[in-house]
Amino acid sequence: MFENLSDRLGGVFDRLTKQGALSEDDVTAAMREVRTALLEADVSLPVARSFVKSITAKATGAAVTRSVTPGQQVVKIVHDELIKVLQGEGEPDTLRIDNPPAPILMVGLQGSGKTTTTAKLAKRLKDREKKRVLMASLDTNRPAAMEQLAILGQQIGVDTLPIIKGESAVQIAKRAKQQASLGGYDVYMLDTAGRLHIDETLMDEVQAVRDVANPRETMLVVDGLTGQDAVNVATEFDQKVGVSGVVLTRMDGDGRGGAALSMRAVTGKPIRFVGLGEKMDALEAFDAQRIAGRILG
Ligand code: GDP
Repeated sequence: MFENLSDRLGGVFDRLTKQGALSEDDVTAAMREVRTALLEADVSLPVARSFVKSITAKATGAAVTRSVTPGQQVVKIVHDELIKVLQGEGEPDTLRIDNPPAPILMVGLQGSGKTTTTAKLAKRLKDREKKRVLMASLDTNRPAAMEQLAILGQQIGVDTLPIIKGESAVQIAKRAKQQASLGGYDVYMLDTAGRLHIDETLMDEVQAVRDVANPRETMLVVDGLTGQDAVNVATEFDQKVGVSGVVLTRMDGDGRGGAALSMRAVTGKPIRFVGLGEKMDALEAFDAQRIAGRILG
């Protein structure tokens, strides 16, 4: 479907004189192709622009060794920079879930895969880290969503907080906290309500829940197939409730994963996991190399 960056750049450099170092003209021509490749991979425009700017400075004057073509050299520079932005620096590779019971707040828009991801993450903590996890749905507007979490909990062998009709999200959060302490759980996960769009009511509710739970981790679940939207959602949630990590879902789809770059560049928040399907095991730790390869095509 897409022409990959190496092919594109091959075309550009065929038209240019080959020299020992990349000239400004070479780089300018190449960067148009890099920008197009990023946009096709669903990287948001402002992020693609600023990324290209930083690369331009690095690429101009870069030596082209005999063993590579100028195109390959540019791809390498782009690739290395992508990894740098995607990876960030010094992030912990495990969730902060010491001092039990550790609260994890799950936030995101409706349909992003939040409930599925809550269960996947609970399963991961249970299987890999042998943690006792309690999950609670705070989606008081959608009884079906509460049911869904209970069903997933049964499937994966993780307890869910019994549903009591008529409780508010804050009341449920308080009960989850109490139950987690009394029941000797290591972690309790709060699956907050999603809305189709970010609105005041949603944010007020999430803030109130956050203030009650004082979460150790606040994980934002975002559909990885959305480019600019993903960034807006992340910025908004981070400003209002503070996000500690991101989970990108639907990375098993056709998308090229540009949302990962946009997200990282704009919010600076680490992407911790990627969702790779509907099954409960389809959650993996984020791998910058893989996403960079995918963005470049
Ligand atoms: P919520 O409204 O944000 O809680 O979304 P759900 O967890 O109910 O997920 C909505 C739909 O997306 C469900 O059909 C999930 O099975 C599906 N889904 C969630 N994560 C992924 C993923 O990583 N890949 C794919 N292909 N589907 C997913």
